[in-house]
Amino acid sequence: MKQIIVQKYGGTSVGSIERIRAVAKRVSKAYSEGYMPIVVVSAMGKSTDDLVNMAYALNKNPSKREMDMLLSTGEQITISLLAMALQDLDHQAISLTGRQCGILTTNFYSNARIEKIETDRIEKELSEDKIVIIAGFQGFNEHEDITTLGRGGSDTTAVAIAAAVNAKKCEIYTDVDGVYTCDPRRVKDAAKLSRISYDEMLEMASLGAGVLHPRSVELARKFNMPLEVRSSFKEDEGTIITGVDCMEKSHISGVSIDNETSKISLLGVPDMPGIAFKLFSKLAKENIKVDLIIQGGESSHLNDINFTVKSSDFKDALRVCEAICSEIGAQGVSSNESISKISLIGTGILGNAHMAEKFFHTLYDLGINIQMISTSEIKISCIIDREYGAEALNKLHNEFELHLAN
Ligand code: ADP
Ligand code: ASP
Ligand code: MG
Repeated sequence: MKQIIVQKYGGTSVGSIERIRAVAKRVSKAYSEGYMPIVVVSAMGKSTDDLVNMAYALNKNPSKREMDMLLSTGEQITISLLAMALQDLDHQAISLTGRQCGILTTNFYSNARIEKIETDRIEKELSEDKIVIIAGFQGFNEHEDITTLGRGGSDTTAVAIAAAVNAKKCEIYTDVDGVYTCDPRRVKDAAKLSRISYDEMLEMASLGAGVLHPRSVELARKFNMPLEVRSSFKEDEGTIITGVDCMEKSHISGVSIDNETSKISLLGVPDMPGIAFKLFSKLAKENIKVDLIIQGGESSHLNDINFTVKSSDFKDALRVCEAICSEIGAQGVSSNESISKISLIGTGILGNAHMAEKFFHTLYDLGINIQMISTSEIKISCIIDREYGAEALNKLHNEFELHLAN
């Protein structure tokens, strides 16, 4: 029995007919090396953005169900074209939608989570020696409707499929040749990492490093699935994401910036039990994920509750807060949409006081005011004014000598 590997190709990697042909050749090479490749693909180039724009041109508040119906078509174009390109190379290849390969998800349109994968169809095709090509980012729910997994979700499809069929590894082919200490588009001397642990990669991805969908890293960690980020344009080795090698050794893996975050403050909230519960349970009911939370008060009877949400959830979160304001006796709501979350990621950060000191000193040197702070064993994050985000990112990268990392 051949070993299965899952290869995922992102939008740029399948952005044109020539690129699809190049991907077919790469898949064909893996097949001739004795592997059984399963391929997961994204929509071509920026075509998902084009579909989003078309939807908003027709309706400022499109239904999430219809959005999923629309956006899932992008991937369907790529799977069929890639199957044709492979057939042209004399391979047996078959394209499958999320429904056809049994990816059952939760009901939340536009941000569904995978519940299980019925692999019978995939296994049948593999047993007939066919190269299976799967549409990324999509599944179906209990109503037999198409759902999508959130922008960038094809990475998650790839890892979920790899885990479900017990693949040897999952390769993510993209337009960079690995995971860098910072987005190379933002910091010119960012360095490529040869390895990084699941935990650090999960923090980096969640804190703004768009190279991987955070949930793909979460799944890879859960199933101990080796993950590799590689370039679809070059043959170079990429970055391997695996288990921890040495948790006690402190080192910094990178810095990230998240500009897709917004802050909401409930002002003058009575200081009594149950207030936070009421607020955050209302937000949870609308599936709005809250990130940093800070509660602080001017006097012993009143508090301000500040929290951040993803910018895409901002309008809904603000609506919930405005509605609950009088119910919980708050004096008002204020918000700030132009903030950035800037983070330092590495093992043993909390155990090493000098790391935090250097981080805060760097921001102080730049005269940047910190609005919120959060820390964990492997990261420090701060909310700052977006205007200073790029400067802070570059200076932190420099101060921590991340260009020397590997
Ligand atoms: P794909 O369409 O292949 O999924 P993405 O655009 O989602 O590609 O991800 C690749 C991009 O991620 C790169 O072009 C790069 O600009 C960005 N990126 C952000 N942070 C990092 C990082 N730390 N290392 C590498 N790339 C990063
Ligand atoms: N096509 C989807 C997007 O652009 C999913 C993906 O590429 O991963 O977000
Ligand atoms: Mg991506």
